[in-house]
Amino acid sequence: EAKKQLGSSYQFYTEEMKVEAMGQLYLEAELRRAIRLQELRLYYQPRIDVATERLVGVEALVRWQHPTRGLLSPAEFIPLAEESGLIVPIGYWVVYQACKDLGVLTAAGHSDLHVAVNLSFRQFRDERLQDTLIHILNEARVDMGRLEFELTETAVMQDPARVSGVMRSLNELGIQFSLDDFGSGYSSFSHLQQLPIQTLKIDRGFISDLQSNTDNQVIVRAMISLAHKLNLQVVAEGVDHLSQVGFLRGEACDQIQGFLYSQPIPLNALMTLLESDDHIRRLLNDPQVALE
Ligand code: C2E
Ligand code: MG
Ligand code: MG
Ligand code: MG
Repeated sequence: EAKKQLGSSYQFYTEEMKVEAMGQLYLEAELRRAIRLQELRLYYQPRIDVATERLVGVEALVRWQHPTRGLLSPAEFIPLAEESGLIVPIGYWVVYQACKDLGVLTAAGHSDLHVAVNLSFRQFRDERLQDTLIHILNEARVDMGRLEFELTETAVMQDPARVSGVMRSLNELGIQFSLDDFGSGYSSFSHLQQLPIQTLKIDRGFISDLQSNTDNQVIVRAMISLAHKLNLQVVAEGVDHLSQVGFLRGEACDQIQGFLYSQPIPLNALMTLLESDDHIRRLLNDPQVALE
C-alpha cells in the first residue's frame, strides 16, 4: 500500500515537473515571440533631487504586455530571460527604446533629464556588448552624459575583470554607472573604491522601515556618509513615505526614488508629470507665470 502510494505520488511529481518544464518552454517561446511582436514596454520611474525637489532623472523598467495575461512585471519574465539568454536581445531593445524616448523628451524641452537602464550580468557574456551598445547610442545620437547603467554588486562580482573593463570603456564615453540594490547581496565597501561607478543606490530593504528601525537608520547614515567621502552620489530606493524623506534630507542623501513620488509610468504619463512639475516650479519661482 505504501509502495503504491509512493509510486503514484512519484508519478504525480514527474507529471507536474513535466507540465512545469513545458510551461517554461512555452513561456520562453512566447517571450521570443514577444520581442518580435513588440509586446515589451518601457516604463519610467522618476528620481527626485532631494535638495531641489525636482525630477532630475528616470529609471527605465521593462514590462511585458502579454496578449492574454495582461501587463507582466519583470519578476515574471526577467529570470527566465536571463536563464535562456533572451535577456541579450531584450537588453538591447531596452537601450534602443530608452534612447528613442530620450530623444522625444529632449524634443519636448526636457533636455536635462537623465535616464538609467538596468544591465544583468548575463548581458556581459555577450562578446559584442560594448560595441553593440556604442552602436545603438551612436545611431540614436544620444548625449552619452545623460545615460546611466545600473548594475548590482552580485552581477559585477561574477566576473569583475570583464565587467569593470566594459564599464571603464563606456565611462570614458561619458556614460555613468550606478551600483543597484546596494547592501542587499554580498556587499563589500572595498568594491566602491575599485569600481568605476558614480552613484550608489541604497536597496529599498533599508528604506522601507526607516522610521521605526534604528539599525537601518544607522546603516543608511553610514552608507551615505561613506559614499560621499568616495565622491559618489546616493539614491535611496523604495521611498514610499514622507517621514523617510525627512530623514534622508537630514543625511544629505542626493536623490530619492519610490512610490511616494511616482510608480513606474509610461512615457506619455512621464511627459505630463514633467510638464506639471515644471509648471509648479515656475509658479514657485516666478508668481508672474500664474498670470500667463
Ligand atoms: P530594480 O532595478 O531595483 O528596480 C526597482 C524596482 O523597485 C522596480 O520594480 C520598482 O517598481 C520598484 N519600486 C520602486 N519604488 C518602490 C517603492 O516605493 N516600493 C516598492 N515596494 N517597490 C518600489 P520592477 O519594475 O518590478 O523591477 C524589478 C527588477 O527587475 C528591477 O529591480 C531590475 O532588477 C529588473 N529589471 C527591470 N527592468 C529591467 C531591464 O530592462 N533589464 C534588466 N536586466 N533588468 C530589469
Ligand atoms: Mg535598477
Ligand atoms: Mg534597485
Ligand atoms: Mg532589484
